[in-house]
Amino acid sequence: MKLIFLGPPGAGKGTQAERIAERFEIAHLSTGDMLRAEIRNATPLGAAAKAYIDRGELVPDSVIIDMVRERITREDCKKGFLLDGFPRTVVQAEALQSFTDVDFAVNIDVPSERLVKRISGRRMCPDCGAAYHVSMYAETTCQKCGAVLYQRDDDREETVYNRLKVYTEKTAPLIAYYEAEEKLITVNGDQAVDAVTESILKGLGA
Ligand code: AMP
Repeated sequence: MKLIFLGPPGAGKGTQAERIAERFEIAHLSTGDMLRAEIRNATPLGAAAKAYIDRGELVPDSVIIDMVRERITREDCKKGFLLDGFPRTVVQAEALQSFTDVDFAVNIDVPSERLVKRISGRRMCPDCGAAYHVSMYAETTCQKCGAVLYQRDDDREETVYNRLKVYTEKTAPLIAYYEAEEKLITVNGDQAVDAVTESILKGLGA
C-alpha cells in the first residue's frame, strides 16, 4: 500500500497519517519531520531548509525530491509507505510518479477559516512527534512519552498566513492532479479525530 496525504496545514494530516500507517503496517514518512530532524542534527541540509521553513515557504523541489527518493528505498518501506506532506507541488508529484506508483491520495478537507486557530493552538512533542491542541489538552508534557511540549516556530500566527497562501497556490492544484489520476479520496477533516480516521478507512475500502 502506497498512500499520499494531502490537505492544508492544520488539517490533521500528521495525526491521521500516524493512525493509518499503523493500521496498514506501513512506514509513515513526514517530510516536515524529516526536515526538522535535519535541523536538530545541524546537517547542511537542515541549515539550508531552515530559512525556508521559518518563512513558511517550501523547501526547493530538488532537495525534497532527492530526500524522498532515497527514503522510500529503505527496508521499512518494503510493505509500503504513507507520504505525509509530500508531494506539495505538481513538480514533486510528477517526480514521484517517475520513480514509483501510488495507490491513493487522501485529501483531508477542512474549511480555511478553521485552520489558523487549529495551527496556532497546536503543541508538539519534540521526541515522538505527537500533536496536541491547547483547547483539548492543558498539560505541558507529552501524554505518550513525557517530553516537554513546544510550539513550532512556523506555527506562530505571523507564519501561518504565508503557509496557507503557499498551500493554496502550490499544493491545492494536486487535488485536481490526483482526481484526474482517479486516485483521490476526499474526507471531511472537520470532525472528531476518530470520525476522520473512520472516513479515511472507509474511503480506502478497509
Ligand atoms: P509540515 O510539517 O508538513 O507542515 O512541513 C513544515 C515545513 O517543511 C513546510 O512549511 C515546508 O517549509 C517544509 N516542507 C515539508 N514538506 C515539504 C515538501 N514536500 N516540499 C517543500 N517543502 C516542504
